[in-house]
Amino acid sequence: MTEKLPFEIQEIINALAEKGHAAYLVGGCVRDRLLGFVPTDYDLCTSATPDEMKLCFAGMKVVETGIKHGTLTVVNRRTACEVTTFRTEKGYTDKRRPDQVFFTTRIEEDLSRRDFTMNAMAYAPGRADGGLIDLFGGQQDLAAGVIRTVGDPGERFEEDPLRILRALRFAAKLDFIIEEKTYAAMHAHKALLAHIAAERVTAELIGLVMGKAAQRVTGQMGSILSCILAKPAVVHDSLAKDPCVRLAAFYRQSKDDIAGLRLSKSMHRTITALFSYEAPLPKNQTEALFLLHEMGLEQAVQLCQFREDAGALAAVAAAKESGVPYAVRHLAVNGHDLLQAGVPELAVGQVLEKVLALVIEGKLENQKESLLGYILQEPLSGCS
Ligand code: ATP
Ligand code: MG
Repeated sequence: MTEKLPFEIQEIINALAEKGHAAYLVGGCVRDRLLGFVPTDYDLCTSATPDEMKLCFAGMKVVETGIKHGTLTVVNRRTACEVTTFRTEKGYTDKRRPDQVFFTTRIEEDLSRRDFTMNAMAYAPGRADGGLIDLFGGQQDLAAGVIRTVGDPGERFEEDPLRILRALRFAAKLDFIIEEKTYAAMHAHKALLAHIAAERVTAELIGLVMGKAAQRVTGQMGSILSCILAKPAVVHDSLAKDPCVRLAAFYRQSKDDIAGLRLSKSMHRTITALFSYEAPLPKNQTEALFLLHEMGLEQAVQLCQFREDAGALAAVAAAKESGVPYAVRHLAVNGHDLLQAGVPELAVGQVLEKVLALVIEGKLENQKESLLGYILQEPLSGCS
């Protein structure tokens, strides 16, 4: 915890403290700092209500992101930070968010609603006593690499079964083990996972498959994960760190189940393409150029990674490096040139494709004269 806080965050804490409110870093950022990582984002919690908070942040931008739940996003210079009133929660009937939240002035109550001991610590910078509030043994569990619920695991998973997946996500991300009773309760309550909102499951699963211990966790936790997809596959640690490649690998034995996730359009398109490409992968530069033509560079690379085919990946890289055209837009002629050369408008696209194929095969040089020479000599002959 030696890392200095960004001064933008310190200023937000100071702004609350100046008006007499308690303010702490909380959750993931405290965990990550104790682990020696620089947090990607900072969450604060405070005794101030949202209305009281608004009076503190003069000169900063305040966005009411989740005001009913006590959360404001404060933007100080360029740094954004979520600030949430200490709260307790009740009920998760829609399996998305708590039915009711109650504001409290006691940080202890706020910490006890949190999922795991390592996520239930708060830190007030600059205090003589070190400023860390750790009521549930979070530091000890962090040091031992253990994931343990705050309170009774069965009750906590019943309250919000997403926590079962969060445990797996953190186990994969941090390469931690899951404490015995916590694990037993995850097992006992795994069927509840079927009711969780797709967008919450999707976010956690992406985190899980991207984790450094994804292979161990997907290998050991198949029986829990099978409540989400029928046949979860092992995600090898050697796989590229690409969410599409890793999700596709995880779903490769249950392809249709991918429809149960809430993916962005582009991720959905990529994963569908990875699943539907069944032909053998390129073994040489010419085949690789045709694959690049068909899928584009990004997807061609992802396909080779998904199939874990290093030879094909090398062929694709070499094809790209060669500078040989693999798209019509790389040709030394364009549609306009063809029209001028007398190619009928309706045939232009087809002729360009034909010419590209000949260039890829090395039968034509990608130079305007040779391409036009070929086209003028037999304008439509090769295009039937
Ligand atoms: P990451 O660094 O991966 O974002 P995080 O711990 O910050 O990890 P978030 O999902 O951002 O995870 O949640 C922030 C904090 O809110 C957690 O550390 C935890 O204290 C609490 N929290 C989040 N989701 C839950 C949940 N479903 N049940 C209980 N507490 C939760
Ligand atoms: Mg976070």
